[in-house]
Amino acid sequence: MKLYNTMSRRVEDFVPIVPGQVSMYCCGPTVYNFAHIGNLRTYIFEDLLRRTLENEGYSVKHVMNITDVGHLTGDGDDGEDKMEKSARETGRSVWDIAEFYTKAFFRDEEALGIQRPTIVCKATDHIQEMIDLIRRLEAGGHTYTAGGNVYFSIDSIDDYGKLARLNLDDLRSGARIEIDSMKRNPKDFVLWFTNSKFAGQAMTWDSPWGRGYPGWHIECSAMSMKYLGEHFDIHCGGIDAIPVHHTNEIAQSEAATGKTWVNYWCHGEFLLMGNAKMSKSSGGFVTLPDLEAKGYDALDYRYFCLTGHYRSQLRFTFEALDAARSARKGLMDRIAECKAAASPASQPSGKAEGYMKDFDSAMSNDLSAPQALSILWKMMKDQDLSDSDRLAAAYHMDRILGLGLDKAESRMATVGSEDDLRLLAERNEARKARDFKRADEIRDELQRRGYSVKDTPQGAVLVPNV
Ligand code: AMP
Ligand code: ZN
Repeated sequence: MKLYNTMSRRVEDFVPIVPGQVSMYCCGPTVYNFAHIGNLRTYIFEDLLRRTLENEGYSVKHVMNITDVGHLTGDGDDGEDKMEKSARETGRSVWDIAEFYTKAFFRDEEALGIQRPTIVCKATDHIQEMIDLIRRLEAGGHTYTAGGNVYFSIDSIDDYGKLARLNLDDLRSGARIEIDSMKRNPKDFVLWFTNSKFAGQAMTWDSPWGRGYPGWHIECSAMSMKYLGEHFDIHCGGIDAIPVHHTNEIAQSEAATGKTWVNYWCHGEFLLMGNAKMSKSSGGFVTLPDLEAKGYDALDYRYFCLTGHYRSQLRFTFEALDAARSARKGLMDRIAECKAAASPASQPSGKAEGYMKDFDSAMSNDLSAPQALSILWKMMKDQDLSDSDRLAAAYHMDRILGLGLDKAESRMATVGSEDDLRLLAERNEARKARDFKRADEIRDELQRRGYSVKDTPQGAVLVPNV
């Protein structure tokens, strides 16, 4: 397995800390609004990574947080708490908002065939772990208190910014507008707020520094270490997390433990809308329910995401989504035909196994999904393969692709009303009696009703026209 590591800026061989096992942490959603399809692209990439690791034989412990407190409207310490802002705007409580959007998020994930993480952890359930970690940093001399807030001092460590390769000298000498005059260094960040700019902050907890709430970055350090230990294999997120969020996570985690925290940093590139990153704050964003309301299946969007490499930007357009939809429908139909014609479970031929191997190596080469998809299509069109071969290989590939190809069968087997199926049976009888005129009439009637009739070794079946 090869993976691009943002820390080294190179594709590296993946070597887990414990043989056969992978510990993987993915930054989860901030649940103050619907996830947009750009956010979902990142979760699809993480799902592909997990499925590929599992296909390689690893057992994967996948942890994801739910940010339900502390994420301000800016990635630094500026702005208002996103949850509080949403509560104020909608007149609902922050807890209601978190619950509502968490549910909506998992609904989207399920529709997209994204596997549930092994552990999903909410920030508000782990305040004590965050307090404990901040105390550890305090004991190590990495913090200071100013204006009621506890800050992490980036000058207390000597490698701040190594992930993003920040040039700290430039940052210090360059002119910049300081938002928080309490900070000793502009890059210092808040670990614990007691001094909220916003009166009546709903989510607050007692702490050694007074009643308040945690900074955003500390939650990922505290929860990942709780569930995966102080040194684990993979940490993922979108590339926008590199310069601030992940940079600060690394600073505080490694300052606390005194050792390397994560071995591989994997980041997904942006989904673009026009020429800009799709984002909630800019207003112009599309959600999965928006696409579904226009008649798209969530898996059309998953297919669309598979057509781009996770480290390349992908531009969203409805034309591109239409192309993904018809490709996926075509694939489902071919699979349904194979299913109807295939003889029951037989060993795939050497040629089919060759395709499976090529597919696996494309995916294990830094998740080359577009290449893997083209191997799937080449295999589907290969006349040398039997239907059983094709089916076995496609199902194998779908363990990673997650396109629900096994559902293609039921789509064909269950289509048609009782009356449609009665007509189909009548057509079979007519054919047996060599009454081809009547058989053709029935076929035309079924065509008008929206079905093609497909003759298979097991008999005729209905296939919906697309
Ligand atoms: P948020 O809920 O804002 O914390 O974002 C959730 C995840 O989506 C993070 O890993 C972000 O890096 C990622 N993300 C945000 N915008 C985009 C985008 N336009 N394309 C891909 N990923 C994104
Ligand atoms: Zn995080």
